[in-house]
Amino acid sequence: MKEEDSFWKSAHISPGGGAWVSFWNDCWWPGMILKDAYPRVAAASMFQEAWVSNIVSFESEGVGWDLQLSISLRGGAERERLSLLHYLSLLPLDLITTGPAKLIWNSCSNGGFSVKSMYDTLNNARFHGIIDFPCKVIWQPFVPMKVNAFLWLLRHGRVLTHENLKRRGWSLASMCLLCKAAEENINHLFWSCPFSCSIWNVLQQMVEITGPLHADVAAIIDGWNIHTQVDWKRRFVRGIFHAFTWEIWRERNSRTFHDKSRHWRVIFHKICRTILTWVLASGVLNDDQQVEWLSQMNHLCPLVALRDARSSGFPGFQEEG
Ligand SMILES: [Zn+2]
Repeated sequence: MKEEDSFWKSAHISPGGGAWVSFWNDCWWPGMILKDAYPRVAAASMFQEAWVSNIVSFESEGVGWDLQLSISLRGGAERERLSLLHYLSLLPLDLITTGPAKLIWNSCSNGGFSVKSMYDTLNNARFHGIIDFPCKVIWQPFVPMKVNAFLWLLRHGRVLTHENLKRRGWSLASMCLLCKAAEENINHLFWSCPFSCSIWNVLQQMVEITGPLHADVAAIIDGWNIHTQVDWKRRFVRGIFHAFTWEIWRERNSRTFHDKSRHWRVIFHKICRTILTWVLASGVLNDDQQVEWLSQMNHLCPLVALRDARSSGFPGFQEEG
């Protein structure tokens, strides 16, 4: 289930007078979209995009519903139609009013919306395996918001690689500018490209990650659940895929828009500096933990020293030009 579907499990539209509210496609009754609940009747409708106000009529004996079907239904479809009319007859008389349509948020008693209630709803659905919402892996508090947002887009396949641009109608000759040996798509760019693999292999040795070995970036992100008892390493590991994909994307853009390219070893050191800066700037480590963390970092990657972090903006995060 997508986040959008989960959203409509938690909200509905109060139709008011019914104008601008789609009879078949909008969720104007809690937890139900009529097109999904009554598919055979919806398919027989002459006006798939009809507003509620096109279907409802106010008569002396009450509210009437003209479904405007193009054919006479039989069998199961007819029973479905009768069920829908029965359902409509049960709607509260004051549901259709002369006022404007309103969005009603089911999780709050006053019908208002809050981001926290939306987050709780999505997280609860994720916990029960109802939706695909890998928030715990992606939204890391010590990682800059723009990088978290980038990984979120990457997880949902929305990063504008050549493949995605072609899906949007762009006509272009696709070529990965990191290796110049394959077409550019998300799985190639961030995982199977030799340039990216060279970097990842060294990072993997540094933090002793033994997996994951999927060929699919979305599966890698979802499965990113590596445990360690060492605090500095846990933070490093949590942010490493953020830094890795972020710097790969920046290098790809540098080559695409500025015709500037750097060796993979340079990108590797940039990734190490980026993670170091994030962790230090977040202030989440006390002095002793910082000393331990820097000691371990310098041991694992001698070219990354504290002065590098300071020169790139320590203690606050500052992106290099
Ligand atoms: Zn490549």
